[in-house]
Amino acid sequence: MPADSANQPPSLPHLLTAQGRQLWREPFQRAARVLIATDFDGTLAPIVAQPDQARALPQSRAALQRLAKLPGVSVAVVSGRSLVDLVRMCPLDRAWYLGGHGSEVQPPMGSGVPQAWGEMPATAAEISVLAQRIRQQVAGWPEIFVEEKPWSVAVHYRRRPELEPQVQALAREAAQGAPVRLLEGKCLVELMHRSYYNKGTALQQLINELQCDWAMFLGDDTTDEDVFALRDPRILGVFVGNPQTRSTAAQCWVLNPREVGALLLELLGVPRPELSAAR
Ligand SMILES: [Mg+2]
Repeated sequence: MPADSANQPPSLPHLLTAQGRQLWREPFQRAARVLIATDFDGTLAPIVAQPDQARALPQSRAALQRLAKLPGVSVAVVSGRSLVDLVRMCPLDRAWYLGGHGSEVQPPMGSGVPQAWGEMPATAAEISVLAQRIRQQVAGWPEIFVEEKPWSVAVHYRRRPELEPQVQALAREAAQGAPVRLLEGKCLVELMHRSYYNKGTALQQLINELQCDWAMFLGDDTTDEDVFALRDPRILGVFVGNPQTRSTAAQCWVLNPREVGALLLELLGVPRPELSAAR
């Protein structure tokens, strides 16, 4: 991060200025299929002391509801929170939900889209190899449960909590050289395939699936940088926060959840042609 950034004006355009509007008004209007995707905490919902109390600002939620009903426009909420939490805290009729940084996916209700996309053969095969190796290593401890999922292996040691150091050590060893990240839970260690623990790859997959020509993604935190860093020409990355206080790979910014709400409202005001092929 540049040390002298505090003395410089932000070089990134602010989206609610004339210069900033050039980045999104025309693409939003022109693209046949659009995705408006947003992080939850610190973006739709102001940060609160009790994470369980976080709620999307009413104006942002209302705007997303209406955007999702426009022909050719899809809406997604992308968060590190679990899918269950996310849907409960930000109920929207026609949104896609990407929980666990994209490892859990819920398509809009009634859309007819298959539930999960995490079952790509390459990933499943890599995970299977890993699961098999771990099963062999814990064969002497029948109480240890190795759970294989399409995108991860979870090793549960709830029934032998005293084995935590051994389980953690073998998980670390198994993860070495494998395309996974280690996540630790309660009496659980999970080896998550990298391609499914990243907002960037998850969002790209959604854009491909929906065949979107253009997408906007808004986020405030370091995990949102996985999207910004893609430099995918289809995605306009919007940092939520003051770009003078943190370096970001986003192309533009708005200051806070209130400005996110204002931006979403402005999007609603942009006339989009009725595209018969859009849906
Ligand atoms: Mg956030």
